[in-house]
Amino acid sequence: MQIVDALKHARRQLSLSDSARIDAESLLCSILRCERSKLYAYPEQVLRDEELDAFNELLVLRAEGHPVAHLTGQKEFWSLDLKVSHDALIPRPETELLVETALALIPEDKQTKLLELGTGTGAISIAIASERNRINITATDLSEKALILAEENASLHLLNNIIFKKADWFTFPDIDRYDLIISNPPYICTNDPHLKRGDVQFEPISALVSGTDGLEDIRIIIQQAQHYLNARGWLLLEHGYNQAAQIRQLLIDNGYTANATVKDYSGIERVSMGQLAN
Ligand code: GLN
Repeated sequence: MQIVDALKHARRQLSLSDSARIDAESLLCSILRCERSKLYAYPEQVLRDEELDAFNELLVLRAEGHPVAHLTGQKEFWSLDLKVSHDALIPRPETELLVETALALIPEDKQTKLLELGTGTGAISIAIASERNRINITATDLSEKALILAEENASLHLLNNIIFKKADWFTFPDIDRYDLIISNPPYICTNDPHLKRGDVQFEPISALVSGTDGLEDIRIIIQQAQHYLNARGWLLLEHGYNQAAQIRQLLIDNGYTANATVKDYSGIERVSMGQLAN
């Protein structure tokens, strides 16, 4: 079968997904180990039997709902290819806003110390480290499997200025004071119906859910971060589409100043921050 026909067949098989075409192309590229442009340049190339079998196997899993990133084993974030697995959240495009907001606060010419809580694949720390060579990052996670994945991603991108540590938020040996503390913590409500739909069903619940209002972990982080920030240090958090006002209030209640929220590309309030005054 030629590439063009295999893709046509795949799009029909995935017609329930609203990204059928791009899903099919990504899956075929992962088997052929090629860029998507090759599928258009050589549509008449005939697939070998084993390539077609592997493609069909992935299509069945995709039609069952498995995330494309789990099937290809990788996801692009901040133009970096990252390995992904069932052990960590699949990096989301909107999380690039957290990286962008952090970078605006990190001078290029000054040593900066950053703590990332709940690093998962390592995406946020790796993106920041790739942009600032004078930064020292400590990236933590409760999951040892996630830490192994994150370390692998950091070494794939030849970054040696990130230290990975197992931690339950601020509980880890040799915790220091930092210029920035940053996190994309779990923030979904336990009963949120969207946990039963789409990619999230296949992701670790511990990376997604945080009590009945989704704010259990964010409250802990906001309360405790002030003890580990340098004077004028910043706390930056990603959060859910309807949580910004509550989070700004928590920041005020805990004495942070310069509190602000940034909207993502869909116009949703997505990242909030506060600064330690003195
Ligand atoms: N933004 C993710 C989602 O809605 C959740 C990520 C998180 O809880 N940190 O699927």
